[in-house]
Amino acid sequence: MNLVSQIQCYMTELLEHLEESVNMDSPSADKALNDEMMAWYKHLFIQLTNGTVERVPNDLYGDRLLCKLGEGSKRILIVGHSDTVWLKGEVARRPFSISDNKAYGPGVYDMKAGVLQAMYGMKALMDLGRLPKDKEVILLINSDEEIGSPTSRTWIEEEAKKCSAVLVLEPPMEPGGALKTWRKGSGRFTLTVQGKSAHAGVNPQSGVSAIEEISRQVLSLGAMNDYEVGTTVNVGVIKGGIGSNVVAAEAEALIDVRVKTMEEAERINALIHGLTSVHPEAILTITGGITRPPMERTDAIAELYELAKQVSLTELGEEVQEMGTGGVSDGNFTAACGIPTLDGLGARGDYAHSPLEYVMIDEIPRRAALLAGIVEKL
Ligand SMILES: [Zn+2]
Repeated sequence: MNLVSQIQCYMTELLEHLEESVNMDSPSADKALNDEMMAWYKHLFIQLTNGTVERVPNDLYGDRLLCKLGEGSKRILIVGHSDTVWLKGEVARRPFSISDNKAYGPGVYDMKAGVLQAMYGMKALMDLGRLPKDKEVILLINSDEEIGSPTSRTWIEEEAKKCSAVLVLEPPMEPGGALKTWRKGSGRFTLTVQGKSAHAGVNPQSGVSAIEEISRQVLSLGAMNDYEVGTTVNVGVIKGGIGSNVVAAEAEALIDVRVKTMEEAERINALIHGLTSVHPEAILTITGGITRPPMERTDAIAELYELAKQVSLTELGEEVQEMGTGGVSDGNFTAACGIPTLDGLGARGDYAHSPLEYVMIDEIPRRAALLAGIVEKL
């Protein structure tokens, strides 16, 4: 039996598990809820695959899981997360539902279905006796991905360095379900301007307007955008002043940066930190930097995609496409460590981080088979 048919046999059970997992709130900031989610995942992984699971304690966010299958010299890493962007109580408002071959509910697409696809894909390899003897498959699940993986970045990087390839369970690109072979890197900066307050009617000339200064800086930041190269600099929030009759003493801008290459990351970082005040008495303070390095499409990543394409032809009877995105994931970290990373191996659907999010049910066995087939052939 081929992988898709094998996973189709699990679908009734898989959908019950999907309903159960979607109906467990797991916002990144809530340790207790993510701990519960992890206990549930641990139990399920062992039940499905007879593999081993190590639960890694975390003081701040939910504990992490290292699920392992097989023992051998060829180590493959699969990366997923348990947390969602939805706060506690979202499930009560919007529980799991199915209509028209689509599954809905908080985090169903990003990425509760993706994690289950990985677990059932591994089960299929075991049940069909298709997990090569020399292969060790590791599935990492963290619970702080949606807030930038502050406590799991190093852990993921360390595990990735022990592996020959990394497969990330974030959703693919629609329409078509293309895999992600590159991702932009991202950075966050804060620009604070210190001016001097004065009475707007009595002595405005003795003040230094932080608002006027920051306005000029915003224009300089805007000029750093280069859509052709793929560099974007967005001032998304601006604050300042205390009243219309006061020359503003303070202003602040929050800046988001996206870049395709590390070289460009360094260039923009230097430009932003090198901003100087237009008004001689205004004082600029700049903090922040590139927080996620870009996942560049290296030759090794292109090779990994070629293998995925072959597997999709054999297992799904279609050629999976490749694309890139300005959105970031934990794949940015593993790729920046030099480990070939392929992303977008999660569930097909749409509307991540929106109440409209859904997963295409028919595609679940196909995508699980694609992932399992890649693991087998790597
Ligand atoms: Zn995600």
